[in-house]
Order: sequence, then structure tokens, then C-alpha cells
Amino acid sequence: MRTDWPPIVKDPREWTVAPNLVSYDAARAAFSWEAARAELDGLPGGALNIAHEAVGRHARGPLRDRTAILWLGKSGERREISYHELDDLSSRFANVLAGLGVERGERVFALAGRIPELYAAALGTLKYGAVFCPMFSAFGPEPIRQRLGIGDGRVLVTTGTLYERKVAGIRDSLPGLRHVLTVNGEGVDSPAGTLDFGQAMAAAPAGFETAHTRPEDMALLHFTSGTTGKPKGAVHVHEAVVAHHITGKLALDFHDGDVFWCTADPGWVTGTSYGIISPLTNGITMVVDEAEFDADRWYGIIQRERVTVWYTAPTAVRMLMKVGDEAVRDYDLSSVRFMSSVGEPLNPEAVDWGRRVLRLAIHDNWWQTETGGIMLANFRSMDIRPGSMGKPLPGVDAAIVARDPGAGVVEVTDADVEGELALRPGWPSMFRAYLGEDERYRKCFAGGWYLTGDLARRDAAGYYWFVGRGDDVIKSAGHLVGPFEVESSLMEHPAVAEAGVIGKPDPVAGEVVKAFVSLKSGFEATEPLRKELLGFARQRLGPAVAPREIDFLDTLPRTRSGKIMRRLLKARELGLPEGDTSTLETT
Ligand code: ATP
Ligand code: MG
Repeated sequence: MRTDWPPIVKDPREWTVAPNLVSYDAARAAFSWEAARAELDGLPGGALNIAHEAVGRHARGPLRDRTAILWLGKSGERREISYHELDDLSSRFANVLAGLGVERGERVFALAGRIPELYAAALGTLKYGAVFCPMFSAFGPEPIRQRLGIGDGRVLVTTGTLYERKVAGIRDSLPGLRHVLTVNGEGVDSPAGTLDFGQAMAAAPAGFETAHTRPEDMALLHFTSGTTGKPKGAVHVHEAVVAHHITGKLALDFHDGDVFWCTADPGWVTGTSYGIISPLTNGITMVVDEAEFDADRWYGIIQRERVTVWYTAPTAVRMLMKVGDEAVRDYDLSSVRFMSSVGEPLNPEAVDWGRRVLRLAIHDNWWQTETGGIMLANFRSMDIRPGSMGKPLPGVDAAIVARDPGAGVVEVTDADVEGELALRPGWPSMFRAYLGEDERYRKCFAGGWYLTGDLARRDAAGYYWFVGRGDDVIKSAGHLVGPFEVESSLMEHPAVAEAGVIGKPDPVAGEVVKAFVSLKSGFEATEPLRKELLGFARQRLGPAVAPREIDFLDTLPRTRSGKIMRRLLKARELGLPEGDTSTLETT
């Protein structure tokens, strides 16, 4: 990977709106979680409830008529839902739960696309004091059954169609699932054994007094993406809202009047922390697009709705790159003040493309389901070093650590040394458990650190660089090779749209590097191109790190949250069982 990509240097003279975090060092020195907490409203007696912070308090203040959700339907519908309307809807849903006799702390699952009812259910569940657990609408029956089973789901909110296709057949195996509410089209009956969502809402009383949940009460259950194996159920509490709120302000630079678009589905953590909670606690307008990725549609939304802050994923950026530079020419993206991405390493090539073609600096940030919110970020005021994830959030202590068989977990203080990325526990949105897997949870902590399972290094200026997931790192002839480095190098070739790199067992080297590559439109998978790519990588990376083999694939296997599943590339290459594929994208 080229490390000499030109940095994107920030010039304060270009700011028309000053960043919330102007000086990183000053913000870090001044930060306290108590002060962050004080930005929220809170409830009497030290109670804290995410829904109150997200909608309740705004519905009774100056923002009551501001658009909270700008909903764009698949077939061209456009609906604006104000803060007070969203608050009313969530109250009604809380009353629906009350009417069903649901108890506080019980789990309410959702299996739906990005429809308004999903957002009402999420906030209503939190308001009621129950626990919300979103699932991808594209999951098949088995992953749905597994998650409802692990989480002991009491209520499921879904659509009539999804219910009939995916849930009806497994219902008998879920005795704990007492109630299913289905969203149905007008004049369509709800399937047998379910209640009609619309009717239940219409029949429910309007007002609801938000539950006085304690900060440590369980609020959200999020399953991880399943990139490295079977998804884990991470438990988050109401206190997490402190981090959701402040990271929106500092890392995503939310300002009054912003129109924010987080392209992630609430079925994974980004789509909830930043696709529901953080923009609402910050009182801004959020775009929710029901449709799937489409470059023209996306550029059109940004232009038409005057999106000011755009949060997406590297996989989406790569898809935009794949569609080509022409596609953006007809659109005006100048409303965007801040663009950010998360979920996978953001290849420097992608940062460079964003600068050249979108005319936007893409700010990578890093976090996990377990961390609940953004932990490392390229802040708006900071220069971007392409390929780096940025610096720790004020209030978060990060480190590179080594697991030493004798000394345990030790911090590596030298710059540019690879090791495991670790965080000092104690930030509000830290997960409190892996549901039903206590031992696994405990193993994430050692030597006073939370161990993230990701490998990284920190440079002398304090920027963190992603190396790879612990499980994905390749040991080849005495070298440790991070797949990201190899993938990013391959992406520097004009023909390459995406690359996934694995270690393939080899009797001599231990492992050799093998790459799977998908090509941009207009390029053909030929033998000469394969040779050219091998040579290209070898010249950039040197023989020890460059791939020994390259295969062409039309698309790489990825999770529904957009992550390349290297373990699947490896299993397929070696003819091994594929393991858990519940989150594999199949369309
Ligand atoms: P599982 O834990 O089930 O294998 P997962 O780790 O992919 O799935 P998530 O919690 O959704 O599930 O993803 C978090 C992981 O995504 C991080 O641990 C990291 O490996 C990767 N990631 C997120 N953001 C970045 C980033 N900016 N750069 C590099 N990697 C990132
Ligand atoms: Mg993980």
C-alpha cells in the first residue's frame, strides 16, 4: 500500500460553518463524560431514557415541528415526520406494548425494511422500557429463529409479507414469542396469528409517560455482523445515549439545521446508533431511504434534499467508484459539508477518488457493535491521512497492546508497531454483555483493557492505521501480512474494483497470500490481466507480501452490512465448511 498519499489538509479559511471540534488536543483536554451527560435532559431521580432524549424532550420544545425523519419510499413517496409526530407515534406504540402486557426489560424484535413503522416501534419500545432488537429484513428463517431464540423475543414487529415468507414456518419453535404485529397494506388482512400494526396503533391511547429507566437498564440488543463467525448479541444500556449524542456532535459534526443521511440499515448497529438515535438526540433532520443502493438515486437524494452530513460505508463508496466517474457529473453534491464512512477499512484509493470525483473529503471512522458508538475518527478539523482511521474520541483512551504469554497484556508505546487495538473500559456505550455468552464477554477484557480483536498501529502523530482483523492476518514466511495493505495496493490498479485477500496454507511458507479480485466495468478477466496484477502488486509490495495467486470473481462475498467475508473466501478456496452464513448477502 502506498503510504505517501497526499494528506487532505484542512484550511480554516474554507469553513463557512466552524467545526464543533476545532482543536483535537484542546477538545481532548477539556472533555469529560459528566459534561457530555449534562447536554442531555435526563428524567427525575437520575433516570435516563434514550427515547426521551431522542424525541420526548424535543416534542415539547422549540423543535416540535421540525422534521425528524424525511422518509423516501421505494416507489417515490416522500413523507416528513416531525419530532412531535414521531413522539406521538412512539407513545402509541408504547401503549400497544402496555396493552399486550409486555413487561419492562422484555425484548421487542423488528424484522422490516426501512419503513416509518420501524422507527416508531424502536422509539416506542425504548420509551416503554423494553429492549429493542432490530434484524435485517433480508434474513432467512433460520437466522431469524436463532436471534429470537437467543434474545428470547417476546414481541416481533414485521410486515405481513415477511411474516408469511419467513416467520410463520418457525413460529411453533418460538414459544416465548407471544405477539407478532404486522404492517399490512390498506385493505389487506394481517396473517393468521398476528395483529395488524396499524389497527393496534389506532386503537392505542395517545399519551405515554416515558419509563424512568435507570442508566444501566438494558435498552438495545445488537447482533454483530458475523464477519468472523456466528454473530454475537451485544447488550447496550440507556446510558449509551450519552455516547451516541456526543459522537454525533464531535465525530459527525452535527449542527443545528443539518440534514443528515446515514445509509446504514438499522439491522446493524450503525443504522441504529446513527440512523436513529444520534441525529434525533441532536435535534436534526435525518433522511431515511427505503430503497437499496443505486448510484443515481443516491446522488439525486443528496442533491434534492440538500444533505449536509453523509455517513456511509466503504463498500458503498467502492460501489460508487465501480459505477464510474461519469455518473456523478450531472449532480450537485455541494450541500455536503461533512462526509464520513465506517465498517471496513477505507482504502486510500477511495479517499483519493472522493476528493477528485465527489469533491468531498471522506472521513473514516472506526467502531464496533461492542463499542456502541464511534471510537476513532478523522474529525472534521483534522487533516486526513488517507488510509488511517483517525484518532480516539475525546474521553476514550485507546492503545496498541501486545498479548505477552508471560506478562499478559502490555501496552506498546512505540509508534508504528503493529498490535491489537485496545480501549480503556468505561465509555457509556460499551457493551455490557454478549447475551448468553458470559465467558466470551469476560475474555474480551484483560490487563485493564477491552481488546477489540482488530490489529492496528499508531503513527508518531497519534493517527491509528488498521492492519486487519486478528483472525484475518496472514503469516507468510516469517512476515505478518495484513490483508488491508494488499487489498489497497491492488485497488490502486485501474481495473480493480474490489479485492479480498486471504492466507492459503503452504508447506514451505506457512501461508501464501492469495487475492480475489472483482473488476470495474469495462475490464475483462483475462490471463494477461492476471499477470499484470501479480506484477503490479509485486512491484508495490515486494515479493514477501504480494499475492502469489489471484482469482477473478464477479463479486466478493460480503455481509449484509457490507463487509468482505474473507473467512468465506478461505473456506471456499480450501473446500472447508462455510460456517455461519446467516448474514451473507445473497442478492
Ligand atoms: P463479527 O464480530 O460477528 O465477526 P463484525 O466484527 O464485522 O462481525 P461489526 O461490529 O459490525 O461486526 O463490525 C466491527 C468491525 O468492523 C471492526 O471490529 C473492524 O474489524 C471493522 N471496521 C469497522 N470500521 C472500520 C474502519 N474504519 N476501518 C477498518 N475496519 C473497520
Ligand atoms: Mg466483531
